[in-house]
Amino acid sequence: MTTPEETTLSAQAQDFLNRLFPLCRSLTDEGVRQILATLREVADFTIQEVPSGTVAYDWVVPEEWNVREAYIADSHGRRVVDFQQNNLHLVSYSIPFEGTLTFEELRPHLHTLPDLPDAIPYRTSYYNRTWGFCLSQRQFDALDRQETYFVKIDTVLAPGSLTYGEAVLPGRSGHEYLISTYCCHPSLGNDNLSGMVLWALLLRELSQRQRRHTYRFLIAPETIGALVWLSRNESIAPTIAGGFLLSTVAGPGPFGYKRTFLGNSIIDRVVRQTFRELRLDYIEYPFDINGSDERQFSAPAFRIPIGTICKDKYYEYTFYHTSLDNLDFISANALIQTLKLYLLAIEKLEMNRTYRSLMPYGEPMLGKRGLYPKLGGSIKQQAANLHLPHERRPYQVSEETILYGNELDAIRWLLFYSDGQTSLLDIAEKTSFPMRQLFDIAEKLVAHNLLEPV
Ligand code: ZN
Repeated sequence: MTTPEETTLSAQAQDFLNRLFPLCRSLTDEGVRQILATLREVADFTIQEVPSGTVAYDWVVPEEWNVREAYIADSHGRRVVDFQQNNLHLVSYSIPFEGTLTFEELRPHLHTLPDLPDAIPYRTSYYNRTWGFCLSQRQFDALDRQETYFVKIDTVLAPGSLTYGEAVLPGRSGHEYLISTYCCHPSLGNDNLSGMVLWALLLRELSQRQRRHTYRFLIAPETIGALVWLSRNESIAPTIAGGFLLSTVAGPGPFGYKRTFLGNSIIDRVVRQTFRELRLDYIEYPFDINGSDERQFSAPAFRIPIGTICKDKYYEYTFYHTSLDNLDFISANALIQTLKLYLLAIEKLEMNRTYRSLMPYGEPMLGKRGLYPKLGGSIKQQAANLHLPHERRPYQVSEETILYGNELDAIRWLLFYSDGQTSLLDIAEKTSFPMRQLFDIAEKLVAHNLLEPV
């Protein structure tokens, strides 16, 4: 079921996952620049630098944080916790520190996850100036309580800049959609290395397609990056019709969809229709004020409806924000499956046209236009008609599973509903016909002067 094209895409995704995973990155640092430079091998986008101290509404771009080394050594000089082994060991934005401490003095600076004893937790201290180390519970338990420890944190916190990437793929419809992801988490696979790689692949794919709509791609550190972008694009943001926030897209578990704050926006509807047409199992999550940058993009001044299709949604999987969310946990194949869902959902945005019947006075005669089946008997026959099967297929996205319905019925429904107000998405929802079939037939009816696009 994997096509040669998917195999190539999957190998490419795996290559980027491998290369980008080890880089340490946070809100503002060299790691973010390296990530963005590498992703530009996939697709072109511009890089923006915003100086530390820049105000973005209630927030300020922090100083840049870079790490030279950080470790805890015992009295024999043996490093018991070392940032070089895993960059999750150091709390992000730890301030520089050097000193010898007893275990009891060190203890408040150590973070573990007792319930997941092999995992190193991911912790940050962006706006509270302190330092700390994260380690597995097993490492922690093995520390000698009588020992004195030498702690060295050679970090640099200094004025620099916040880096973000942006690309605009112009369309001609006047409608614009936002596709955003965040690049601030170090060495975590599903959250959100997977989202960044998918973002770049999606950008490349859409840049090569014919487009009706405009797509704006943004990759930035979470929260502060989104706020910086919004503050610089305050007049554009409220005109954006909707968007997607790419996060946690390559786990082994179920597909999920986090709704937009509206719950029934064009974004929600094209995503539901995508899963429905594929007969694919997924979990739909309500909009929640916890989450990612949809909190900023959907704030009262902007109100952009933002949805997220994920595979193993953040918060829902056990390894979330731990060292076990690594390259063994995610897979390039899963990432490509989710990429296809995004492409199918976006295809629906593109195909969602509205038509008006040019022959609204009852049914037009299809036979004389060659639109009526030559052979009688198949009309209303069960086996020849569309039925959404009961059996659903979990965790695979195959376009062959999009079930086309009876063409004559599709023609009749299209002619019936095309009143200049009812869109193809409306018709797909009312009738269960896949949008691609409705779109192809609608264009055929335009060629026969039975419909016109409005
Ligand atoms: Zn996260």
